[in-house]
This record gives sequence, structure tokens and C-alpha cells, in this order.
Amino acid sequence: MPDTQLAAADLDATTNKTYDTIIIGAGIAGMYQLYRLRELGLSVRVFETGSGVGGTWYWNRYPGARFDSESYTYGYSFSEALLEEWNWSEHFAPQTETLRYLNHVADRFDLRRNIQFDSRVSAATFDETARRWEVTLDNGERFLTRFLITAIGPLSADTLPRILGVSSFRGQSFHTYRWPHEAVDFAGKRVAVIGTGATGVQVIQTIAPLVGQLTVFQRTPNWCTPLHNRKITEEEQKKIKAGYPAMFELLRRTPGCYIHNTDPRGTFEVTEEEREAFWEKLYSEPGFAIWMANFRDVLTDPKANTLFSDFIARKIRQRVKDPKVAEMLIPKCHGFGTRRVPQETHYFEAYNLPHVRLVDTRKTSIERITETGIKTSDAEYEFDMIIYATGFDAITGAFDRIEFRGTGGRRLKDHWAEGPKTFLGLMSAGFPNMLTIVGPHNASTRCNIPRCIEQNVDWITGLMRAARDRGITRFDATPEAETEWSRHIEELADGMLYTQVDSWATGINSNVEGKTVRRILQYQGGAPAYRERCDAVAAAGYASMVLT
Ligand code: NAP
Repeated sequence: MPDTQLAAADLDATTNKTYDTIIIGAGIAGMYQLYRLRELGLSVRVFETGSGVGGTWYWNRYPGARFDSESYTYGYSFSEALLEEWNWSEHFAPQTETLRYLNHVADRFDLRRNIQFDSRVSAATFDETARRWEVTLDNGERFLTRFLITAIGPLSADTLPRILGVSSFRGQSFHTYRWPHEAVDFAGKRVAVIGTGATGVQVIQTIAPLVGQLTVFQRTPNWCTPLHNRKITEEEQKKIKAGYPAMFELLRRTPGCYIHNTDPRGTFEVTEEEREAFWEKLYSEPGFAIWMANFRDVLTDPKANTLFSDFIARKIRQRVKDPKVAEMLIPKCHGFGTRRVPQETHYFEAYNLPHVRLVDTRKTSIERITETGIKTSDAEYEFDMIIYATGFDAITGAFDRIEFRGTGGRRLKDHWAEGPKTFLGLMSAGFPNMLTIVGPHNASTRCNIPRCIEQNVDWITGLMRAARDRGITRFDATPEAETEWSRHIEELADGMLYTQVDSWATGINSNVEGKTVRRILQYQGGAPAYRERCDAVAAAGYASMVLT
């Protein structure tokens, strides 16, 4: 390839253009996949809904949006020159800097020439006879491609709350994912925030000092821990650059590709004093150390988990002045780390400000959004602005929003109706020539995501190279391989506290019809084991797939 036979034969009057590969999405995954496939000499087109590159970091412009992985562990690792020339300014970079970085990558590698912006893919249908996909955009434009790669992100299908009257509010209102590009003025405004996940926490702590009045509507509190962000000094910058090879080697070995590795000790194998001292140390350390580098059993043994949750509860009580508010902010229905841990900076102190109040929507439920504010079961509030930090139809939602049809016209949404069925989290039987970066059942959504994206992309690139070299025009996972992988996913999840609570990671979203049953959506065996599995499949010549 470029598959000249395909390109010449398949151009027909009803479509605009034919490619070897179409990639959906120009975020971190789509950009890197484009770079790699261009190296193979394939003709590639990327369709991107936004007007610029960056995916998550293009859309999430809400106040306070920033990394909670260390910046230097998050950037691409594939180019030494890029690593050398880019200076991260903070240990946990803000969204503006990350978006600047991704634009720099797009310019440096001249990626834009293959990306079509403002182009939302609405449908993709596999044509069995021609062994190719027909991809349709929102505006009706159609394209043909031999291979189709989705890089649509696990958290890109934003959801507004299913509350009466959402569209009736006359003030300003935003979902955090759809934050405007223009500056938003908070001075003197009466602002409501609905949602207290990782996004809500970042918004609340950032705008609390700026607004006239802030009311937070919380349904479920989360176990938030300090981020401890700071600027990177010149000395640190040099060390980071010199240490890149060793750091990336370490990231290949940790379960989630973070620079934090599980402590091999069990919670009850140390004395109470040692335990307290260790937890105090973790609480003062930056980033996810407290989640990822804790005792080995904190996320699996309910007793250890309860003990550590009590430790964090004490911290919340120390930091929040009003004991009633502190109790409201302490999760009671799930243990620490069993949902994504929001990383905070003075989040709890925001509730000590006189103009910030907290409403528990489980006690006083939101009845409706009115023209002027929010009506709960016991009060009516007036606002100038409502911010919806209400999250996403995660992992499978972005797939559901595109009409994928595989062999025999079968819809992917129907194939996954009882939960996703995949092979390696990278493909689904009956959807030939289609690959899903960061798809369900893939290690990447429990990962420092660019690290797992690079793994996904490199594996896919290997398959594309094999297709090019061996003249393969169709591949598919066998139903047996899919069943076996899906069973493996279920087995790995057994005994994990993380899969036993409601959250986006277990497929729960009260705002989406049918998303009320917990599913195992993620590979829980850790990135190194996942990589080994994928590599073994490639080394065996993709034996568990049918290649023709
Ligand atoms: P989320 O964790 O799903 O949180 C959504 C929030 O909205 C929850 O508090 C939820 O309450 C609430 N909510 C939803 N519908 C509601 C309704 N109808 N009434 C009342 N409350 C409602 O979403 P998110 O905060 O956007 O975060 C999603 C993920 O994005 C994170 O877990 C993280 O992986 C990622 N993220 C990453 C970063 C970063 O890397 N720096 C930053 C932000 C987010 P319930 O909990 O009761 O459902």
C-alpha cells in the first residue's frame, strides 16, 4: 500500500474519496495513529468533530481543567526530539498548556494535512463484497476505506442531567465538556454547579473565590485527595529530560503506567504507627501516589479499604470547619479508590467560604430547572449561571452515537446490548477491518492514558503492516476469541472493589436510558499483562483472528 488497486477500483461516483484507512478522532490517539500509518505509506484520512486537534483537551476548557498524571509521564514518548524540545511548566499542567502541546505536535509532524476538522462521523457500514467501510459524515458526505480505526475517546459522549426544564433556564448554562472558547466572567454571579466528580471538583475549587455566590448540588461525594501541584524548576527540568528513558521503562512496568507502584506490604502487616506514618506520607505526596502506591490490599480487602477510608475521612473533618458539611462531603456508600479519585487543591477549604453552600440532592432532590434557577424538594434557588459537571456516557457512549453496522448489517449497539463483546478490547467479531483504540475491555481506561494509547496504536500499526505486506484485505476476530476474551475480562474483575460500585467506569449513567446495570467495561489485569496478551497474539501471526 498505498493500495493502488483499491484506490483506483473503489472510487465511484457516489462517494467523495477512498482511503486505505480512516481514523475517527484527532485526539491523542488519532494523532499518533495517523503519524504511524503515514510512516507505513498508507493513505489516511482523519475525521474530527472539533475545529482543532486535541480531543479531550480541545473540548474540556472548563476552569481548573488540568492533568492529574504528572505532565512528563503524559506526553508522547515516540519522538526523542519532541521530548527534548518540550518543557512542561508544572508537574500537573493546565488544559491550556496541554492543548498548546498537542497543537505543537500536530505542527511539528505536519499532521493537519490529513485531518478534516468540523466533520462528525455519523455512520459507518461494512460492505462485505468490497471488503471496505463506507463512512458517512453528519453533512451527508461519504467516504470509502479498507480499514476503520476509532479513536473516539472513553469520555467524549457528554450527558446533561435528565431533569425537567434543563432547556428552560434563561441565564448562562454550560456542560463542562462544551465550555465556551471565550472567557466567562464569574464576578458577582450566583452560580450553581451540579456534579462532584473529578471535573466538578476542579471547577468548584477554581471558581469558588471568583463568584458572588456558589451552590454545589452533590448527589454522591467522592474521596478526594490533594494534588500538590507546583511549578517545575530548571533543575527538575534537566533531571526529567535526562531521566526519560528510565521513567518510560518504569511506566511500562506499573499496573496503570503511572510513576507510582503498589506497595508490596499488606495493610495489617505493619504496626499501627507505621501505617499512620505511611498514610501521612502518601497524603503529602503529589498526584495519585495515595491511590496507586498504597498498600497492596487497600483496593481489594474490604477491611483494609475501610481503615484507609477512615483515614481520609479524618482529613476531611480536619479541613472542613462546619462538621455537618464535612459529613456531607465524606462518602458513605463506597470506599476509597473504588471510584476514580478526584485530585484537589483547596477543594475542601472552598466549603469554608461564607458564600459557598452545599446541597445534598439525595436528601432534597432536584425537581426541575426553572427559568431562573433550580427548584429542589424543599427550596427554590435563583442563579445567573448553571454549570453541569454531570459527566459522560462513558466508554461505550461514543460508539453508541455512531451507527456502526458490521457484517449482515448488524449494529454494534445491538451486538453490545448486554455489554461490550470484544477481542483484546481492540475489535469485535462481525465488524471486520475495524479497530478500536481505547475501546471497552481495553487496559487503557484504567491507565495513564497516552501510555496505553501508544501501546494500542503500535499494536494496530503492526497489524496494518502485516496487512500491507501480506496483501490482507479482510480481518476479523473469531467469535470464539471474542467469547474467551470477554470471559477473561469478567474473571479479572472478580473480587475487585472497583467493579462493585456505581460509576462511569462500571457503565452507570442515570442520565442515559438503559445504563443502570453495572458492566465490566475495563481490563483489570494491569497494562503490562495486557501488553503481553496483545504481543502474544501478534507473535502467533494473529492466529485467533481470521485474515484473508
Ligand atoms: P463523573 O465522574 O461521572 O461525575 C459526574 C457527576 O455528576 C457525579 O457527581 C454525578 O453524581 C453527578 N450527576 C450526574 N447526573 C446527575 C443528576 N441528574 N443529578 C445530580 N447529580 C448528577 O464525571 P466527571 O467529573 O466529568 O469525570 C469523569 C472522568 O473524567 C473522571 O473520572 C476522570 O477519569 C476524567 N477526568 C480527568 C481529569 C484529569 O485527568 N485531570 C479531570 C476531570 C475528569 P453521581 O456520582 O451520584 O452519579
